[in-house]
Amino acid sequence: MPEQPRREPAPVPVAHLAQNEGIFGPVAAARRAIAEAAGRGNRYPEAGTGALRRAIGARYGIPAERIVVAAGSTAVIHYLSLCLLGPGDEVVFGHPTFVAYRLETANRGATAVPVPLTEHGSYDLDSLLAAVTPRTKLAYVTNPNNPTGGMVARDEVRAFLDALPAHVLPVIDEAYFDYVEDPGYPDSIKEFCSEDRPVAVLRTFSKIFGLAGLRVGFGVLPAEIAKAARKIQVPYDVNGPAAAAALATLDAPEHEIAERRAATAAGRELLVSRLRALGFAPLPSVANFVQVRVGDARAVAESLAAEGVFVRPLGSWGAPDSIRVTIGPPSEMDRFAEVFGRVARRTPADS
Ligand SMILES: *Cc1c(COP(=O)(O)O)cnc(C)c1O
Repeated sequence: MPEQPRREPAPVPVAHLAQNEGIFGPVAAARRAIAEAAGRGNRYPEAGTGALRRAIGARYGIPAERIVVAAGSTAVIHYLSLCLLGPGDEVVFGHPTFVAYRLETANRGATAVPVPLTEHGSYDLDSLLAAVTPRTKLAYVTNPNNPTGGMVARDEVRAFLDALPAHVLPVIDEAYFDYVEDPGYPDSIKEFCSEDRPVAVLRTFSKIFGLAGLRVGFGVLPAEIAKAARKIQVPYDVNGPAAAAALATLDAPEHEIAERRAATAAGRELLVSRLRALGFAPLPSVANFVQVRVGDARAVAESLAAEGVFVRPLGSWGAPDSIRVTIGPPSEMDRFAEVFGRVARRTPADS
């Protein structure tokens, strides 16, 4: 009898929901720009990222000299920290929040001052203010916050900026800006960057614009700080395809971004309702991820990972009872729901 052809096992669907990456890849124009830039891969990119800074400046109504473009907004945080921090300085930020603030503060020998979030997972700006001392140099406001997804409204941000002592630079991190639909959410570049009070705002191409793998983000900074940051910047740290992709993304039609925003919001609402149906209480999120208490987060994340579903357990962020789930494509969200439903029955949230 002839040998049976060996049957391949059905591929296990993998769900990458651990890194807050956008559902979609680069916009169509950016894909073309990347392909075209690849052919110039033997050439150095433009020194000083002038063309991209001018384009960002034109798009957001800010002079190019106030803009620093770097290999992700994480790199802008690095340069800001290098320019402004040293031993004895203090940096205030929410807790839990994006870990880069703590790491970059520690790298400079400065002191991190974490301040608990509100119970809804947004920054508590009154407590942040109360934590400011004469040694405070930077005050981060992550809006919406990562990993919780909670936001602060424009009135709260304005009151905070008005009350913040002049020796502190507020750094408003808006990595998830284009996901937010709430009309109370401020556009900090437009609303706060043209006032007398120095303000820094961070944005990135890594999330809704789908360029996380290319590494490009920017900061709108007070002019002198931007100049100092560009001086210490690693030459050519924004590569040619990344700069080309970012330029093309700035010109993307608004409906293309709006579709992404709507698809993400729909995925988030579905995830929230599925989690609630299982008896969980996810935090209210306006971004492309949701934080939820699950009990032993590491055990839950490991059980999910064993079946190809990757989420972020938040132990190293200071929330060992919670995971963060990124909104992925519908097939991956279905897979998450199916596996999580089984895993959650074995490890109830109150364990
Ligand atoms: C993702 C993220 C960033 C930016 O990451 P880059 O890829 O380095 O641009 C910045 N801040 C927060 C809060 C983030 O979640």
